[in-house]
Amino acid sequence: MNFIAAPMYKLLDEFNTNPDLVVDYLSKLYDRIAKVEEKVKAFITLRPFNDVLNEVESLIRIRKSSRNSMALFGIAVAIKDNISTKGLRTTCASRILENYIPPYDATVIAKLKSEGAIIIGKTNMDEFAMGSTTETSAFFATRNPWDLTRSPGGSSGGSAAALAAGEATVALGSDTGGSIRNPAAFTAIFGLKPTYGLVSRYGLIAYASSLDQIGPMARNTDDLALLLNVIAGYDPKDSTSINIPLPNFYKAMYDTYYREPRLKIAIARELFEYSEDPVKNMSYKSVDVLCSYHECREISIPYAKHSVAAYYIISMAEAGSNLARYDGVRYGLKVNFDNRNWVEVYKEVRTRGFGYEVKKRIALGAYILSTGYWDMYYLKALRFRRMLKEEFNKIFKEFDAIVSPTMPILPPKLGELIADPIKMYYSDVNTVIANLIGAPAISIPIGFVNGLPVGLQVMVRHFNEVTALYISKFLEDKLKLRDLIALV
Ligand code: GLN
Repeated sequence: MNFIAAPMYKLLDEFNTNPDLVVDYLSKLYDRIAKVEEKVKAFITLRPFNDVLNEVESLIRIRKSSRNSMALFGIAVAIKDNISTKGLRTTCASRILENYIPPYDATVIAKLKSEGAIIIGKTNMDEFAMGSTTETSAFFATRNPWDLTRSPGGSSGGSAAALAAGEATVALGSDTGGSIRNPAAFTAIFGLKPTYGLVSRYGLIAYASSLDQIGPMARNTDDLALLLNVIAGYDPKDSTSINIPLPNFYKAMYDTYYREPRLKIAIARELFEYSEDPVKNMSYKSVDVLCSYHECREISIPYAKHSVAAYYIISMAEAGSNLARYDGVRYGLKVNFDNRNWVEVYKEVRTRGFGYEVKKRIALGAYILSTGYWDMYYLKALRFRRMLKEEFNKIFKEFDAIVSPTMPILPPKLGELIADPIKMYYSDVNTVIANLIGAPAISIPIGFVNGLPVGLQVMVRHFNEVTALYISKFLEDKLKLRDLIALV
């Protein structure tokens, strides 16, 4: 069996009948990492193979002595470096947390571990998840495995690149304004931003708390659903987590798949118009595939582009207050305190600790919330958010899903987008909507233009992840774009 490209559900079958195979699998995976990581640079922290091996040996013993199977037994998972892992450095790709070792696990990590997953390392990202290309990382840029001169997108670019390069079987990312879906689209993998409140944020280092969500990333729909099953669920440690009965997403997705319901799908005209021609054409082709079976109609959301302004105002305002905790006392760089007043120390910590993009957003966040301006910007953005939500609720009364290109552009050359912040911010135009309204959205690989991946985004009603997974499975079947690994 090809351990590197095998889907997770197949690996799980093998490992459950023969637990010792996990050792072979992990050693093959580490060989692959040794071969490609130098070029791709997906990981900030990769756990040494021997540490992983020790953990696996005891895990195999536990598995053999118990009759219970584990939902992710032996599976290598890559974790975005803003999700806290006990005893394993968690930097948020920032100098200010360069040596931070969390004393506790995020809820999602505790869940993965209790299901037998192996966390192999922490992946690169934009600093504090602020960016769309993984280039604002304080350490290095990650490269797109499909074209090493290009970005894998961001901010969960390391997790996406690790999957596309065959360095992990599944991964976790976080998505505040598109950070799971953007890199998923740019690397030909599947990525899901769940409904706000479905997955606990406890232990996720906050960027903009009313928008942040952790979500699964995988090379096929089944694995995405299986991973979602493990991480979803109520958590008393996250006050925004929602306590409702949840389906088994994998099973419910298959139930739907076998029933083959015809869905009502909205084609969001403006979200296509914002896109470059090659992306637009490829997206319309996949829409034709969808609409050959499902019932489709074009709709117009004329003010959709204002979502970008509202998103950046809200996210910067929230970021400014979330990042106030990095003061060098509780968190942050250790600097010399002798004979210096607090302001000097605070200034030094934050000047040296934060990169340019983060500083810019903290400054703008403070401005947005300052007296005299907050109603002009912040309040207005909140009003827009409410209006958008109401408008989408109306659309979702009639339609089961809204489709659009995930990203309006092809994966950019390294350096290209970061040099043009307005273009970079506007490249989030299709993804930020789902965060503003709290609804789930998925990115599905639909094809390549000159060797560069394109993804289709599907937004669905709150807590309707199953519908998004069904559409993903439908397209995956028709287009046969799954389990793809780039030849690095
Ligand atoms: N690109 C967006 C931003 O920079 C989204 C980032 C994210 O989802 N974490 O804010």
